[in-house]
Amino acid sequence: MHARLERPQCSTDDSRMSNPESSNAALAMRDLRHVWHPCTQMHDHESVPMVPIVRGDGAWLIDADGRRYLDGISSWWTNLFGHANPRIASALADQARKLEHVIFAGFTHQPAIELAEELIRITPPGLNRVFYADNGSAAIEVALKMSFHTWLNQGHGEKTRFIALSGSYHGETLGALSVSDVALYRKTYAPLLLTPFLAPSPDSYEGEPGETAQQLAARRLQELRELLERHAHETCAVIVEPLVQCAGGMRMYHPDYLAGLRRLCDEFAVHFIADEIAVGFGRSGTLFACEQAGVSPDFMCLSKGLTAGFMALSAVLTTDDIYAAFYAEYNAGKAFLHSHSYTGNPLACRVALETLAIFRDEPVLERNRTLAAHLSRRLEPLRDHPHVADVRQTGMIAAVELVADKASRRPFPPAERRGLRVYLHGLRHGVLLRPLGSVVYFMPPYVVTEQDIDLLVDTAISGIAIAVAD
Ligand SMILES: *Cc1c(COP(=O)(O)O)cnc(C)c1O
Repeated sequence: MHARLERPQCSTDDSRMSNPESSNAALAMRDLRHVWHPCTQMHDHESVPMVPIVRGDGAWLIDADGRRYLDGISSWWTNLFGHANPRIASALADQARKLEHVIFAGFTHQPAIELAEELIRITPPGLNRVFYADNGSAAIEVALKMSFHTWLNQGHGEKTRFIALSGSYHGETLGALSVSDVALYRKTYAPLLLTPFLAPSPDSYEGEPGETAQQLAARRLQELRELLERHAHETCAVIVEPLVQCAGGMRMYHPDYLAGLRRLCDEFAVHFIADEIAVGFGRSGTLFACEQAGVSPDFMCLSKGLTAGFMALSAVLTTDDIYAAFYAEYNAGKAFLHSHSYTGNPLACRVALETLAIFRDEPVLERNRTLAAHLSRRLEPLRDHPHVADVRQTGMIAAVELVADKASRRPFPPAERRGLRVYLHGLRHGVLLRPLGSVVYFMPPYVVTEQDIDLLVDTAISGIAIAVAD
């Protein structure tokens, strides 16, 4: 089954291979008998190896045969301070011995209280209320429902629509998928979904030749204004991924767009939902991406890095005004009755608190600036590559856009799955890179070293050579 995967060139810990019951091959075979994996055509695993991971060590993952992989994508953008981070692991163990979970209606606990206080302290001003959920998509559902419900409670039940950006991604549940525009995930389910108004993304890659990112942002704001002029009366909110549209291909845009969006939302009386699920907690270079535009949204959705990659947790932060729209005597029927069984899970909240403590105790953002500058220097030569149309970076996210033709930026046909070749090449060389279509990107944990970055980039470059060959 794994015939196409050559033997590793990196060092292995051979002692683990002595027990065939727990080898890669044995675990992969058992897995594929019963487990259905996310975002996967399971048939691929007839040729693509399933990699059983037994242990994490900083930025590295170790498989059942003892092979090591540098986690270049922070395990789907969640990990910040390394796998099995000892400080977070002990906080989690300590909490598990005290209180693992309690119903979060009518009951509360210190980790949830402290986490809310801390989130309010570090997020942009005006966000004073925290609603917990247990994954990113659920946070989006909460924000969409809360926005609609706020207007309803204020006598504006005619507001039932949302505005999303082209190329956006906000998750996979039906509401979150509704406001997403990545065809690969959305198209199949379109008959089941809400229909948002799509505003053209300020994505700088889509600019006219010679147009700066800033000029494009201004042009896109004008187009958004026109959309709002027609539809603001029936629109609850505009939802965006601040600065980087991640799943849509790590497409990046100028902060002016967020500042202009804030002004337009105020002018036209619609909410601004900032989905910082992927870009929050230092990814964009600042603690939150909205800071780079000096804006406070009406809703901010957080997850992924919130727990440094340890636990499933999300939070929706909002304003006192929005909270007040629900606050009434019970029989007024204005309450927000949304719930999840694991809302405010104490283990997850405690882990999030420890994550935020690391941000306080260590110069994380400064260190990231040095790492990001190194990554940027190392990627620079790729700009001249005959199949690279764009190299872009925002903080600790960098991306390389592979194309069939550099001059016209003609993309490779998706069916050719060029990115998959980079993925397989990475696995053979002890590096986890998981391109989005033909976009090879880097989003490493903040504990990588410059040598780790060199390995990531060198492996990507040799992988790209293979990927673009006929
Ligand atoms: C990952 C992601 C989500 C969805 O979060 P899940 O926890 O995977 O449901 C939503 N928005 C953005 C921007 C994301 O990157």
